[in-house]
Amino acid sequence: MTFNDDSRLSGGRVKRRGRTAAVAGGGVVGIGAIVVLLLNVFTGGNLDLGTFLGDGTTQIQQQGETVDAAPECRTGRDANLQVECRMEGAAESLDGYWTAEARTLGISYTAPDFFLFDGSTDTSCGQASAATGPFYCPPDRAIYLDTAFYDDLQSTYGSSGGPLAQMYVVAHEWGHHIQQLQGAFASTDRSGTGASSGSVRVELQADCYAGAWVGDAANTEDADGETFFEPISRAEIADALSAASAVGDDSIQERSSGRVDPDSFTHGSSEQRQRWFVRGYQQGATSCDTFSVAGSSL
Ligand SMILES: [Zn+2]
Repeated sequence: MTFNDDSRLSGGRVKRRGRTAAVAGGGVVGIGAIVVLLLNVFTGGNLDLGTFLGDGTTQIQQQGETVDAAPECRTGRDANLQVECRMEGAAESLDGYWTAEARTLGISYTAPDFFLFDGSTDTSCGQASAATGPFYCPPDRAIYLDTAFYDDLQSTYGSSGGPLAQMYVVAHEWGHHIQQLQGAFASTDRSGTGASSGSVRVELQADCYAGAWVGDAANTEDADGETFFEPISRAEIADALSAASAVGDDSIQERSSGRVDPDSFTHGSSEQRQRWFVRGYQQGATSCDTFSVAGSSL
C-alpha cells in the first residue's frame, strides 16, 4: 500500500531495542515462556531452537537502551521511502483501525508495544534472534521484529517483499495482540499440530485480522483527519498474498525438505493463509472466527 505523501506521522509509536548478550550464571529463561514464543513466531520454519533453549544457566543482559525507532519520520512520503517510517505509519494506522474495530468483536482496544531490533534482544518470551522471525510476546503485550526478516521474506521465502508484504507481517502480529485481548491465546490448546489444529486456527485468524486491516486501511486517518493511504491496488493485494503464500507451512516444508506433511502444520497451508487473508479483507474482522469452522473447511 502506498501512503499519501502528505499524511502526517505523529511519531513515537515504534521503539528500537539495543542489542543484548547472554552471560553465564544467574537466571533461567522460563520454559513456559519459550513454548509461548515458539508458537507465536510468524512462520513455523527457520527456528533457531538453540537460541531459546540455552543451557538453563543463561542470563540475558541488556546492552543499550530502548529508543524511538523512527524519530525522523514525519510524513507518508517518509513512510513510502524508508522501512522504519513504514513501520511507524503502519502502527499508527493499525491503532486507528483497531480502536474502532475492536468494539465489533466485543473488546476494548489497548495498543501493543512495537519493538524493532538488530540481531537479538531479550523478551519475556526468551531471547529473540533474527532467525526467529517477527513474533508477538503475550506477557509483554509486544511485537518484536528485526527488519532484516524482510530480506529473508524475499530471498528465503520467495515473497515479492514489497511494502504491503512487509505491513502484512506487522498486521498479522497485531492480530495476535487482538487475540490476546480476546482471550483466544489463553483458551486455545496450541500444543498440537496438524491442518485443523488449535495453533493453525490461531494463525489463520491472525491472517484474517491482517486482511481486515488491509481492507479498511485506506479509511484510517492521521491526527489531522487526512487518510494515511491511497486506495489499494490489485498489484498491492498480490504483494500481500505473495507474502501469505510464501510463509505457508507446505511452501516452507517443500523448500526445506522437498516433502509436505500436513500433520505437522502449525500455521496453515499457503492456500489457507491466502484464503483467510482475503476473507478478512472482504468481510472484516467479525468474519474471522476460525474456531467455529469445521476442520474440513478450515
Ligand atoms: Zn502468527
